[in-house]
Amino acid sequence: MLSEGQKWKYNIGVPQGSSLGPILWLLVINEVLDLRETENVLIQAYADDIIIMLRSTASYHFTGMSENILKHLEIITARRYNVEFFQSARQLRNTSNQNIRGNWQVRWSDSRKGTWTKKFYEKVDTKRICGDFYFNQVLAGHGVFGSFQGSMFGKPAECQCGQNIESLSHVILECELWRDLRSEWPKSWKNKDLKELVPIHEFRSQASAIVKALYETGSMDWS
Ligand SMILES: [Zn+2]
Repeated sequence: MLSEGQKWKYNIGVPQGSSLGPILWLLVINEVLDLRETENVLIQAYADDIIIMLRSTASYHFTGMSENILKHLEIITARRYNVEFFQSARQLRNTSNQNIRGNWQVRWSDSRKGTWTKKFYEKVDTKRICGDFYFNQVLAGHGVFGSFQGSMFGKPAECQCGQNIESLSHVILECELWRDLRSEWPKSWKNKDLKELVPIHEFRSQASAIVKALYETGSMDWS
């Protein structure tokens, strides 16, 4: 198509503005409208938009019915006229959202970053995670903890208790220094690891309190 001397290649939509277009379109659409004779199918057409409505007594029939009618539609139009039907703009948007999410998931799964956080969240999701300043460090694995500071900045990784490397699971689940803060923990948490505990709402505030306590010892460089 030409627009002010410029060539445009269209591969979607019905070419607009030609004199013969509307008549040629009628030839295509006329055969589609003949599908109205099919039982339990109602077709409405307006210009180049078509809505196909199906009637059935149970919703699980619809997939099969719509596949049949779309196949039929393709045979009429694609083979004879080299015309393809596209989904409505809204369906296209939904499809592209699904693609975006799919790509996001692949990038998250394949990324070598965020390996710590990935332990807790394997699947990407647009839901927000409600943590707080302290708990977010548990999720991110960054920040206060000696093991992170040690590997990132060459700072001492030893815990203040002197018993272990100051890893996240040591601080939150084992370290003697914070034993009092764990006194009210339910027995069922006992043999669980962080991955199992993180989804538990109550555990989040408990863990947050320990990180806060660690923070308040002032032993950590938060810069
Ligand atoms: Zn310790």
